[in-house]
Amino acid sequence: MSSFIEDALKATQHSTPGQDEFYQAVKEVLTSLEPLLKSDPKYTKYNIIERMIIPDRQIIFRVPWMDDAGKIRTNIGYRVQFSDAIGPYKGGLRFHPSVNLSIIKFLGFEQIFKNSLTGLAIGGGKGGSDFDPKGKSEGEIMRFCQSFMLELSKHIGETIDVPAGDIGVGGREIGYMFGMYKRLTNRYDGILTGKGINWGGSLARTEATGFGAVYFAENLLNKKGESIKGKVCTVSGAGNVAIYTIQKLYDMGAIPVTCSDSKGVIYDKNGIDLPLLKTIKEIHREPLSAYLKTHPTASYIPVETYTKGTHAVWSIPCFAAFPSATQNELNLEDIKTLHKNGCMVVTEGANMPSTIEAIEYMQANGIGYAPAKAANAGGVATSQLEMSQNASMEKWSFGEVDAKLQNIMKHIFELSYATSVEFGDEGNLMLGANIAGFRKVADALIDQGA
Ligand code: GLU
Repeated sequence: MSSFIEDALKATQHSTPGQDEFYQAVKEVLTSLEPLLKSDPKYTKYNIIERMIIPDRQIIFRVPWMDDAGKIRTNIGYRVQFSDAIGPYKGGLRFHPSVNLSIIKFLGFEQIFKNSLTGLAIGGGKGGSDFDPKGKSEGEIMRFCQSFMLELSKHIGETIDVPAGDIGVGGREIGYMFGMYKRLTNRYDGILTGKGINWGGSLARTEATGFGAVYFAENLLNKKGESIKGKVCTVSGAGNVAIYTIQKLYDMGAIPVTCSDSKGVIYDKNGIDLPLLKTIKEIHREPLSAYLKTHPTASYIPVETYTKGTHAVWSIPCFAAFPSATQNELNLEDIKTLHKNGCMVVTEGANMPSTIEAIEYMQANGIGYAPAKAANAGGVATSQLEMSQNASMEKWSFGEVDAKLQNIMKHIFELSYATSVEFGDEGNLMLGANIAGFRKVADALIDQGA
């Protein structure tokens, strides 16, 4: 690692003590930027690294809400507006007890490059709260969302910052927040994406992240003279990304055999029963173990049974793995197991699901690696398509949006691949995606002055 990267990393740690996830994301990006920074001194001359590591704005606020027992509860809300160099801040809101400033900054930092890669004019931001939606009533969720928007509304706008969903924030939460925004402002603005189809949402937005990940994997496999068709695939997670990854895998003739939630893993060697999975997770919001009531022959591995630092979902043999749950869910031991069992490609539907050691192992052992900021960019890209439809007051068909999504995923793959070739490391998509995403934002910063 060259000294300027070490200096930049020290500066990051100094300015953000203890922010481990953010540090991990910065380290991953900076390390792969080395060839670009060596070949073009202007990025160092204009001090671009420091200007990109420090967010434009970090908003932290108190979110009071009343529970069903009449008690006032308090959570912390965040919106980190990281970079608007190439467009309005754009990125999701995450409601999960693990949320803290480090997580939001890591996600926001990744979002800058992800959004840049899409080829669309969107900057990077991220937000959320440590509020845990699990076990809360409809009324509690609604009151929390309304209180969250009471503050957030002061900082967003359709040409300023346009949040969307992420873990714990789906159509229901976006609806409650959008309703509150209108009451506060008397405006029908496209200030959130992931809206309902009847009130400004885009067709195919719900499906977009999962569909996009599979399109990306297929582009990567085609380059290797392979295809996903007929292949056994493993998927982690049981949220929006996992569900629509599974759906698109079926559309493309693959066999997705797993899904998981925080309590356990379902392995159904006949292929996951998708309508049942949707009923369990989208309608009843139940734990995955409910799957066994309909399919008693499927295997269920509770999380408690794997304790040796590995994740059970990755012990299932597959041709392609789609980590679609959360950060650091695929570690060195997991990738060694996947490799031993013949896995050819890992496509990241979640944000930063693979640890740095796992990524290094993939690169050293010729396992195709589709990094999150490229592979899961379909969600945010389709959010931008929703913004375009809102701005022009048009409504595009499912097919039109899906076709645009396929083109965007192809563009991201080709740009990342071509950039890996340009910097002498053909097929290293992490390097290609990081450099291509960074270069566009960095050049914009230089053009626009300090
Ligand atoms: N949360 C998604 C992501 O990580 C979507 C963000 C958006 O649509 O703005 O990219």
